[in-house]
Amino acid sequence: MNNRFQLYSIGMLLSMLILFSCKKSSDNSATNGGGTIPTTTYTPGTTVYGSKNYTRFIVGDDLCPIILSSPHAGDLTPSNIPDRTQGVTVTDSYVTDLVLKLADSIKKVTGLRPHIIINDLKRIKMDPNRSVEEAYLTHADATAAYNDYQNFIKAALKIVNDKVGKGIYLDMHGHGHTKSRIEIGYLLSATELNGTDGSLNVLANTTSIYAISKTSSLSFWELIRGGQSLGTLLANAGCPSVPSQQDPKPLTDDYFSGGFCTSSYGSMGGGNISAIQLETPGPIIRNTSALRQQSAGKIARVVNDYLRIHYNIILP
Ligand SMILES: [Zn+2]
Repeated sequence: MNNRFQLYSIGMLLSMLILFSCKKSSDNSATNGGGTIPTTTYTPGTTVYGSKNYTRFIVGDDLCPIILSSPHAGDLTPSNIPDRTQGVTVTDSYVTDLVLKLADSIKKVTGLRPHIIINDLKRIKMDPNRSVEEAYLTHADATAAYNDYQNFIKAALKIVNDKVGKGIYLDMHGHGHTKSRIEIGYLLSATELNGTDGSLNVLANTTSIYAISKTSSLSFWELIRGGQSLGTLLANAGCPSVPSQQDPKPLTDDYFSGGFCTSSYGSMGGGNISAIQLETPGPIIRNTSALRQQSAGKIARVVNDYLRIHYNIILP
């Protein structure tokens, strides 16, 4: 893991140097220094676009501790970028619309707009939820978009760290598994979740919500599948989820435990921002506009409750 992270860090550094030297600014708040390193200003309420407008960062309010992302729901297929021929290429249908509706609902519930990072390239062209080695990027434009996406997340993390001091990053996806339930990814494997509550209790520092585990009054297994866990709050709101009190273990069913961004940008290695991957089922959460609207309202209220209960974050 360390080697991978070292390699990744060196890769990101090089990529950022390349990016900073050639990034084309097309937003209304970034500045391009004409060969010098641009200083991007992230103004709340504005949208900053990445290279070729393939990615975007909708900047949230300064005091909002919530970051949302949609990595796999893009629909742009520029012909100059060859299709990826390795790795997963399935699109997470409607997830970007779900994220935008969720952001609107969070604004209604909390009074604050969250930060949103979106990849608009179709996944067969670029997958930002993989390490750069596993993303199998096929073209410089895809590499630039990949780096823009990662840098936008880092920029959002910095804003939340600087302005709030702690927060939560929800990486939003869509799965096509047989069981219609939200799969909540904390970097705990199905095998680990299928274990006992006692065995879960020693795993907090291996998860993407280590920071939350340190502020929550609950033991770690309760935070994962007790009466006030995220999964239970979601299930109580009408969004069946695993792990939860109602559905504590994935057992042998398909389950996503959290990917590259959850691992890279959560609090496993320290820090005060936790990451959670939410893999949403189509039939009960996102397949129609009306469903997405309802789901967004439910998830927004649950996230607000979750932050209050476990993170001591009281939003207006
Ligand atoms: Zn996905």
